[in-house]
Amino acid sequence: MAMSRRFDRGSSSRSHGESSVVGISEQNEKTRMPAPKPTLPDLPCPNCSKNLLTEGFYNSCTETTWVHEENRTFIVNDRIYMDHDEETLDTIAHECDLEAYCRARQTLLPWALYQIRELDGATLSEAPAVIAELLAEMFRQEFEKAAYHRGDPAPAVA
Ligand SMILES: [Zn+2]
Ligand SMILES: [Zn+2]
Repeated sequence: MAMSRRFDRGSSSRSHGESSVVGISEQNEKTRMPAPKPTLPDLPCPNCSKNLLTEGFYNSCTETTWVHEENRTFIVNDRIYMDHDEETLDTIAHECDLEAYCRARQTLLPWALYQIRELDGATLSEAPAVIAELLAEMFRQEFEKAAYHRGDPAPAVA
């Protein structure tokens, strides 16, 4: 029974370290079975460095609903009153807020919601490039902010 320790990479993978070790012989027996469930890539929160794709992020949305109101008019003691019943018929507009927050610490993230959602539909091999672009965008913002506070002129573009 030779146990391969190729996957033992130390401390970097905390929560899913064990699951990446696959029984090789078992996999050969059941070739029709799908490959082991791949793990989500890491998009680290800049504040707590937890993976936003596994730990979660949230946003709020503004919705406009179409409500039908049926009005009734009646008399009580010589006075006219009106009352109405509401019936919500449909959501006619839904707008997601731009701000997205880290689930773990409920802190504002440096990316707009639509930027993070660019990962939606990406293949697992495309994802690292999308994540790298998000991180680069974050560092660009930080660089510009720092330069602004120092009063530096805008960086010369070659
Ligand atoms: Zn966080
Ligand atoms: Zn929404």
